[in-house]
Amino acid sequence: MTGRPMLALVAHDAKKDAMVDFALRNHDKLKPYGLVATGTTGQRISERCPTLDITPLKSGPLGGDQQIGAMIAEGALNGLIFFIDPLSPMPHDVDVKALMRLAVVYDLPMALNLTTAEILLRSARLRGLESTSTIPEISVSKL
Ligand code: PGA
Repeated sequence: MTGRPMLALVAHDAKKDAMVDFALRNHDKLKPYGLVATGTTGQRISERCPTLDITPLKSGPLGGDQQIGAMIAEGALNGLIFFIDPLSPMPHDVDVKALMRLAVVYDLPMALNLTTAEILLRSARLRGLESTSTIPEISVSKL
């Protein structure tokens, strides 16, 4: 991975206000990152934090989660902050699970709630300053 560290942001509807508050509170810490976000999440953050560099993807239910999953598989992300809503059924639940699964498969730093996101944002690993070379290569024959 070269250049700026890359961070993906996703929030389910019930968690979007929490994500916007998180971005406002951590604006200066997020500023050095290249950010990608699912459509509505990115739009909500951009409205309140217009100086953050956010690349919007498709909305989650329309493929945004899968776009982020593809970025994980390509090694294009340093981390994922995903404020999930555990209390509501999601039409794209399979995409949500697939995204979290890939983050685990590739050992990507992933925060699923506010407290962990605050901790993750303070980590050198997220900034790409610590090696990820201890992660074993995944053999295609095992897939
Ligand atoms: P959204 O997608 O940011 O477009 O709402 C998030 C999701 O539900 O996965």
